[in-house]
Amino acid sequence: MPFNLPGTLVPLYALFNPRLLHPHITVADIRQLDFAALRRAGYRGAIFDKDNCLTAPHKDTLVPELEDAWTDCLTTFGPSNVLIVSNSAGTTVDPGQFQAESVSHHLRARVLLHTAYKPAYAAASAARAYFASLPSPLEPRELVVVGDRVLTDIVLARRLAQPDTFPARIAVRFASLRDLLSGRKQRSGDGPLAVLTTGVWTRESMLFRRAESALVRAFEHFSPEAKAEREGFEERFVKRSVVEAQEEVREYRFGRPWQWVGHR
Ligand SMILES: [Mg+2]
Repeated sequence: MPFNLPGTLVPLYALFNPRLLHPHITVADIRQLDFAALRRAGYRGAIFDKDNCLTAPHKDTLVPELEDAWTDCLTTFGPSNVLIVSNSAGTTVDPGQFQAESVSHHLRARVLLHTAYKPAYAAASAARAYFASLPSPLEPRELVVVGDRVLTDIVLARRLAQPDTFPARIAVRFASLRDLLSGRKQRSGDGPLAVLTTGVWTRESMLFRRAESALVRAFEHFSPEAKAEREGFEERFVKRSVVEAQEEVREYRFGRPWQWVGHR
């Protein structure tokens, strides 16, 4: 994959806005998500990462273990309200969009065609434009964004709530700085629900994943309210029975070392 400048700059931005890296929910994989509960709570659509979230890296087909959960997701939100935003399929490394076509066919959902890599603002704009163009348009706050990487997927989720233009983003930043300095409670924003999947189907970038996990834990250490917020969301939208069943087969849980989710 070509050099991802927006992703590389994220740690710098995060120094000033660590919440950028914070997921609302962590699950081992999408089987733990309660899509019906999310729909009841007003979430009407979803953005999914592809590699190591729905498919093995560089593969176009769904991980077989996720078939039921994925069908449940497509049925709950409707196929046109589910968008795959990948940094491989549908980007400039996919000339002719052959992979995007294949992934779209196998996953039964649209793949966003975009030129900027996640988590660039341009990628967020392209995703937002897709949902705005639907016959029944969706706003970012009605979306769930699911992915396995903090520096790309979670940051993308957070950025979907940000305005398109640089001056408007600066104005938002100043407003939240004012809130911070005046001791007013910082708003979590009107953005999507950011979901981090922590299990990996094929080991890849494990050192970076450990570093990302440590950053999230460090942020929660200094911001107990952010941790409480995550636990509150998990209480509402995570299927405890699935978590417990998966823990029995030693699947990965947030806070412990990364490990293979356990297939193949
Ligand atoms: Mg991924």
